[in-house]
Amino acid sequence: MNNKSTLKAISSHQPWASMLVLGHKPVENRPKPWNHRGPVLIHASLTFDNDGADWIIENFPHLEKPVLDSKDLRGGIVGKVNMVDCVTEHTSPWFCGPKGYVFEDPETVTFHPYKGQQGVFNVPWPPPALIPDRQWYIDQFKGEECQCGAEKKARNAFCLGCYKALPARYKQALWSRFGEGFEQAYDDAVKWLNG
Ligand SMILES: [Zn+2]
Repeated sequence: MNNKSTLKAISSHQPWASMLVLGHKPVENRPKPWNHRGPVLIHASLTFDNDGADWIIENFPHLEKPVLDSKDLRGGIVGKVNMVDCVTEHTSPWFCGPKGYVFEDPETVTFHPYKGQQGVFNVPWPPPALIPDRQWYIDQFKGEECQCGAEKKARNAFCLGCYKALPARYKQALWSRFGEGFEQAYDDAVKWLNG
């Protein structure tokens, strides 16, 4: 892979990842030191840290909205920061150590679905533009209306009725990621449901 076209990335649970790229949290707590200085992409993992969300809202009530919004931004790159230091002490209430990666120049980016990894990993950047098609499927997935017109839960592909009606192989296929099979699985399921 051409190093010029990749950036270093680290993954964090939500809502922590969003707090970093929105500039509310200036320091990332990590067990290991890191001597990197420069741009770092922030990846939001699929996990939502409910206790962390409670802590943030309790200590920073004005951050309730971005904390809740971050639930919809999981499983991809949410923004970029500039790493300027790695410390063992920091005055920020967000610091708990043992190491703190100090970030500046936070910026959000258009959510870019991407599979995260442990530790530091490389991500092709800038990303290939989101194919419009893919965005349509993401919208279906996030929306609250099923293809049958009934209400569905956001982040479910279908309403419970449609989902239950599907054969197991379709249900299983729907667990694919965007860009890695979800679109096809969704189309197949819709075709079957309306067969
Ligand atoms: Zn339905």
